[in-house]
Amino acid sequence: MKIIVLFGKPGAGKGTQAALLKENFELVHISTGDVFRYHIANNTELGTLAKSYMDKGELVPDTVTIDMLASEVDRSIDSAKGYIFDGFPRTTAQAEALDELLADKGLSVNATIALEADEDELTARLLKRGKSSGRSDDTDEEKIRTRFAEYNAKTAPLIAYYKDQDKFHSVNGIGEIASINERLSSIISRL
Ligand code: AMP
Repeated sequence: MKIIVLFGKPGAGKGTQAALLKENFELVHISTGDVFRYHIANNTELGTLAKSYMDKGELVPDTVTIDMLASEVDRSIDSAKGYIFDGFPRTTAQAEALDELLADKGLSVNATIALEADEDELTARLLKRGKSSGRSDDTDEEKIRTRFAEYNAKTAPLIAYYKDQDKFHSVNGIGEIASINERLSSIISRL
């Protein structure tokens, strides 16, 4: 089973690329951001809690996020040929929880691939996306800055976490969607 973590700052293209890789490699795609937005749309208790953080551009607390991710894995594991995690893990506690959760099933992360792009480019992309996505965390520059700050403080340390395990790869996230997809696919094909 191939288990891939797609990594990158807000706006790096994780969602777009994960959706393509899901098809290319028959992976189950789990985006924690999408699952939170689903809960918000359905007015669940979890959705209300998540919204209070997402609206500010802050990360949702680890315990809530980890429990949600674990239940998403549990309900798909029997038929899954592999996974692509998009937007999870975002903290060291989440990465450790993912390792434990997978180890319990005799599995482990095969590779973490970062989509690299600089913050100016990403801010421009997010503001553009905000016009059609309607996401409040994409339309407000202050919230975008908070999301980058959260990434730099809490998520960037995961680069060392996965490098220590020899599982870290990075690709240039600037260019045509199809070319970026080729860069990612060539890494995944070699796993
Ligand atoms: P995304 O769709 O990945 O850009 O995520 C949108 C928002 O959902 C983030 O800014 C966080 O508030 C929340 N979120 C998504 N994934 C996580 C995660 N792994 N840990 C904590 N918060 C998350």
